[in-house]
Order: sequence, then structure tokens, then C-alpha cells
Amino acid sequence: MNEEKPMQASLNVDLNKCETLACKCGNKTFTPVITLKKISALLSPTGREMIVELRQRICLKCGEKFVLEEKKNGKEINGQERSDSEVDP
Ligand SMILES: [Zn+2]
Repeated sequence: MNEEKPMQASLNVDLNKCETLACKCGNKTFTPVITLKKISALLSPTGREMIVELRQRICLKCGEKFVLEEKKNGKEINGQERSDSEVDP
């Protein structure tokens, strides 16, 4: 019993019953990458320069960013310009 337990293990959900998302190339393994964005003081809500992490997933096979195809509230979710609210504590 040496199963790999990713972060999701803390969710009380049987992930075996959940759909596995795949890249458009069909590959189902991704690697997380973090892009750093600097928000200038002019744009920052706090009035100070901020660094924001954008978490993305890169397909291990084709190297494309993973794009979630579902849409929510008519707003496109592309896995780029948002933080990973479903994974973050
Ligand atoms: Zn791919």
C-alpha cells in the first residue's frame, strides 16, 4: 500500500469516482507551474506594489497549458488568470 496521495487526499472524496480531466491531446498528467505577476502600485487595491502567483498546469505530453473547457457565469475559465481556489486551503 504505497499509493501516492496528492493534496486532494485531504478532501473527503473518493477521487476514483471522479472524472479525470485530460488535456486536449488526451494526456492526463500535468505539472504545476507558477507565473508571477507584478501589480503596479497604480493598479493594486492596496496602493502598493504586489506580486501575485498565477498557478497553471502544463501538460506533460504536449506542453500546452491546461484549459478547462467549462464555462461558469458566462465567464470563461481558462485556468490562467485566476488563482486555484478549488485547491488552496
Ligand atoms: Zn497535452
